[in-house]
Amino acid sequence: MLVLERDKLGSGTTKGGLGGIRHQFVDELDIRMSQLATAFWRNFEDRTGSRHEFEERGYLFIANSEEGVAQLREPMPLYERMRAAVRMVNRVEVAELVPGIRTDDVFGGRFGARDGYGDPLAALAGFAAAAQLDGASFREGIEVDSLLRDGDRVTGVRTASGDVRAERVLLATGCWTAALAATAAVPVPIWPYRRSIMQSGPLPQLARIPLVIEWESGFHFRPKGAAQRFAMPNITTDGKEEKGPTDAPAAFPGEFAPLEVPPSLEPWVRARAAWRHPAFADLVITDSWSCYYEMTPDDHPIVGAVPGVAGLYIAAGFSGHGFMHAPATGQLVVEEMLDGRARSIDIRDLSLERFQTGRRPFKAAVL
Ligand SMILES: Cc1cc2nc3c(=O)[nH]c(=O)nc-3n(C[C@H](O)[C@H](O)[C@H](O)COP(=O)(O)OP(=O)(O)OC[C@H]3O[C@@H](n4cnc5c(N)ncnc54)[C@H](O)[C@@H]3O)c2cc1C
Repeated sequence: MLVLERDKLGSGTTKGGLGGIRHQFVDELDIRMSQLATAFWRNFEDRTGSRHEFEERGYLFIANSEEGVAQLREPMPLYERMRAAVRMVNRVEVAELVPGIRTDDVFGGRFGARDGYGDPLAALAGFAAAAQLDGASFREGIEVDSLLRDGDRVTGVRTASGDVRAERVLLATGCWTAALAATAAVPVPIWPYRRSIMQSGPLPQLARIPLVIEWESGFHFRPKGAAQRFAMPNITTDGKEEKGPTDAPAAFPGEFAPLEVPPSLEPWVRARAAWRHPAFADLVITDSWSCYYEMTPDDHPIVGAVPGVAGLYIAAGFSGHGFMHAPATGQLVVEEMLDGRARSIDIRDLSLERFQTGRRPFKAAVL
C-alpha cells in the first residue's frame, strides 16, 4: 500500500478537529459505525502499538427548553434498541457530571456514557506507524494532480514526480475530493465549510468532565489536558448562530473560505462560556484556529466503490464526524476493496450512487 500526501500527514482537516467520539446520532448506521470504531478506540494500544488519549468520559447534551428536552428524548428508543448506553438526565445529574456548571436555565439533558474524546493527530500517528510496520509506504509532499483512467477503470495517478500505476486507488482527500475526482470525470458532491476551535489556559478543576454541548446554541467544551477546547457555531453577518451550511454550492467543491478565525467568534465564546460555568469567567483564550468540515448534501460520508469506474474508491465527506468513525471507515473500505463488499457493516447506503438513485434519505444533525 502506498499513501501519497501532498503536504504532511494530518495537515488537512484532521489537525483541526475537536476529537469528539459519540454514539448519539439519529441514524442507526451512524451508531453502528460508532460501535465498530469505539471497539477499536478502546483497544487502540493493542491494535497499533501506540498510545493516544481516548478518554471515555461521555458526551453530555444540555437543553434550555422543554422543546429541546423533547428533541433530545426522541431518539431514546433507538439508543435502547442499539444498547448505546445513553440516558436522559435531570438538572441534578447534570450538576453531578460537571461540578459547578450553571443549571438554573437547564431543563434536562442526555448523557452517553460510552462517548468521549481523543486526540486526532496522536491517533493518526499511531495508525501510520502501525501501517508502516505492516509494510505500507508513506510519501509526503507528493500531490496527486489527476487520476489515470482507461475506459471504465482507473489505472493509477499522475503526480509531478511521475505516474504511479495501481489496480486500486482510494480517494481519502477530505474536502479536496471533488476536484480530484473530476479529473476522472466523476462528479462528487463534497464541499468545504469552515468551522473554528478555541483553547483556554489551564483549568485543571475541569480536566475530567464529559464533552458538554448546549443543544440550542451549539456551544461545546471538552478538556484537553489541563486546558479546555471550545467549539462553536458560525455567526452570520446578521448575528445568527449557524450550526451547519444552509445550502450546498451550485458546483462542487465551491468556495474555500480563508482559514482565519472570524473575529465575531471570540466574544461569543467568552460570553457563552462565562454564562455556563464560573470557571470560565475571565477566560484566557491561548489559541484558536479554523479548518473545513467536508460536507455532503445529506451530512453523511461517501464510502466505497465508485460505480462505473472499476478500481476507484472514496472515503471522504465525513461532515463533522470523520475522526470518531475513522477506524470503522478504514476497516469497511478495505473490506470492500479486497472482498468486493464490506462485511462488518452493510455500507451500501454510503455509496456515491445514492446521489443519483436517492437510495434513502439519511437523518442527521450537524453539531
Ligand atoms: C472544527 C472542527 C471540529 C471537528 N470535530 C470533530 C469531532 O469532534 N469528532 C469527529 O469525529 N470529527 C470532527 N471533525 C471532523 C474531522 O476532523 C474530519 O471529518 C476528519 O479529520 C476528516 O479526515 P480525512 O482524512 O477524511 O480528511 P483530511 O484530514 O482533510 O485529510 C485529507 C488529506 O488529503 C490530502 N490531499 C488532498 N488533496 C490531495 C492531493 N491531490 N494529493 C495528495 N494529497 C491530497 C490533504 O493534504 C489532507 O492531508 C471536526 C472538524 C472540524 C473542522
